[in-house]
Amino acid sequence: PNPGRPNPERSHLERPDLERRGMMFILSSPSGAGKTTMSQMLLTADEHIKLSVSATTRPPRPGEMDGIDYHFVSDAEFDAMIEKDDFYEWAHVFNHRYGTPKGYIRKGLKEGQDFLFDIDWQGTQQLYQKDQQDVVSVFLLPPSLTELRKRLESRAQDSQTVIDDRMARARGEISHWAEYDYVVVNDDVDACFVKVREILHAERRKRTRQTGLIPFVRELMG
Ligand code: 5GP
Repeated sequence: PNPGRPNPERSHLERPDLERRGMMFILSSPSGAGKTTMSQMLLTADEHIKLSVSATTRPPRPGEMDGIDYHFVSDAEFDAMIEKDDFYEWAHVFNHRYGTPKGYIRKGLKEGQDFLFDIDWQGTQQLYQKDQQDVVSVFLLPPSLTELRKRLESRAQDSQTVIDDRMARARGEISHWAEYDYVVVNDDVDACFVKVREILHAERRKRTRQTGLIPFVRELMG
């Protein structure tokens, strides 16, 4: 999905007050629980968070753009990226491979840039193992499995077999909810967005991210 450009009218409201380390803000959910919509809303409302664009061997869906939604790569290119140790994490999902290219993320975090990750539970676990302090993970739950199926069907981009497969996998994905820092039920898009944004705002103020405050506090303590 194209996240769109930041909204300049709102950006002053979201300005981080102090120098700090960036975070990896992960949104996970079974497909159809609204993760893509939530990601787009967050990226549009807040210019201080950028999408981490994954590489994938999955073919593009209609409307998806290379370099914006994903870096669409061949199997051989994906193999080469693994070989060069280019990935922060990667995983098999739905018969394809997906991975997070690492170079620009490491650099961005140091400079205070926040990144939004739309990745599954496997990727979340791997990021936690590599870099626990910078990870904030949010799991979106659908209001019910019936509602989830309805949403997948109304999307109508995937065949019935793919939908059945995704429903089966949704149960597996949901079984990992306890590994997340936060859980939000997405029964109303706007209400869900407010909750997710509250989490982002609160996490920005976490003491351990406020690297800019350390010299000030040292001075205070003599
Ligand atoms: P989709 O094909 O619908 O875009 O994504 C399928 C699944 O792959 C989603 O659950 C998505 O979160 C996950 N995914 C996308 N990018 C990555 C990635 O870089 N790493 C991992 N581990 N999962 C990803």
